Amino acid sequence: MLIVQKFGGTSVGDLDRIQKVAERVARTVAEGHKVVVVASAMAGQTDSLLEMAHRLHGNPPARELDLLLSSGERVTVALLAMALNARGVPAQAFTGRQVGIETDALHTRARIERISGERLKVALDQGITPVVAGFQGISPGSDVTTLGRGGSDLTAVAVAAALRADRCDIFTDVDGVYTADPRIVSNARRLERVTFEEMLELASLGAKVLQTRSVLFAMRHGVPVQVLSSFTDGPGTLVTKEDAAMEQVAVSGVTYDRNQAKVTIVDVPDHPGVAALIFGALGEAGILIDMIIQNISHAGSTDISFTVPRADLARVREVTGKIRVDDKPLDVTVADRIAKVSAVGVGMRSHTGVASQMFKTLADEEINIQMISTSEIKISCVIDERYTELAVRALHDAFGLGTAAGAPAGPAA
Ligand code: ASP
Ligand code: MG
Repeated sequence: MLIVQKFGGTSVGDLDRIQKVAERVARTVAEGHKVVVVASAMAGQTDSLLEMAHRLHGNPPARELDLLLSSGERVTVALLAMALNARGVPAQAFTGRQVGIETDALHTRARIERISGERLKVALDQGITPVVAGFQGISPGSDVTTLGRGGSDLTAVAVAAALRADRCDIFTDVDGVYTADPRIVSNARRLERVTFEEMLELASLGAKVLQTRSVLFAMRHGVPVQVLSSFTDGPGTLVTKEDAAMEQVAVSGVTYDRNQAKVTIVDVPDHPGVAALIFGALGEAGILIDMIIQNISHAGSTDISFTVPRADLARVREVTGKIRVDDKPLDVTVADRIAKVSAVGVGMRSHTGVASQMFKTLADEEINIQMISTSEIKISCVIDERYTELAVRALHDAFGLGTAAGAPAGPAA
């Protein structure tokens, strides 16, 4: 088999750990597999490079920033290739450019456009294990680009797709994807399998196991991804296409997000074009809006509430402060002590009663629901931030997620 093995920052955090990684790669090679290794920078390295850059420049030029940040991964792959060679496993380290990872020119968040992979194939044919620097590529103008934070996951998935690898293993510091954050829910269960779509919801909701873009890429190219711990030998979690068995379970996981804030605009004149004006201005400012609720109008005006990333609040105030509707400024209030709790599962497409079960569970805990939004595979409620843990635990129980058998949730259709 051809296997891509990716190791994250904590997995290569020091020389001892690099030795452990080399040991694991050597074991896979000894089993008769061909392996392409992708590695991140040593833990904390990217952050400390970023910090240095910001000490010298308030807004560091993106081109230079990318050259700087890409160096972290180069260090690890060179060291890892040395450790492999020392164990008698012929290995060669490569930068993104050397293996032909071509991206667009959007520095610090470039998209992969093509991977030639020629040198990888040549190395593999010669029995050499390539060790590829994650997180980086080369722009059309031959400048080094980086793929956004956590981008080594994307490198691994993209290399696996380009080489049509049989497997893409992502080794990290957790042993899989859980039904809830194990720091909050003591009986959270490791999921054996999760669909790409569920993983996307879980990742964007804050279960930061895989970089979101890497999941999208894997979904689009049908690359099954196995999340594994580099510290234990557990089976991990397989992220894959959905099948009938996965739809049996209504809810696969419960997540939360405390990085949102709720903005309410009261007494907005209720006539065509007002929402377009407000959300147009916020969109132009690059602010991502999540949930939106508009009330039924009374006496010609209405209230609009929406959620935004908490970090964008200052800009939301700035942007909405400039808007005039019928020559009047907006009446804006902000609540930043909120949390969004969500139940996620592809089985929701075929099960009913999930929403009512969720609302009832929160009601039983006397937690007030401030906003609700749904998608085909997700129901989210905005609540007071103080009750986040309580809500997550109660929902995890209510949907029977802690049980070993993964009992189906509530009243099924
Ligand atoms: N070193 C980069 C980061 O810290 C890329 C990665 O680790 O995946 O974001
Ligand atoms: Mg990572």
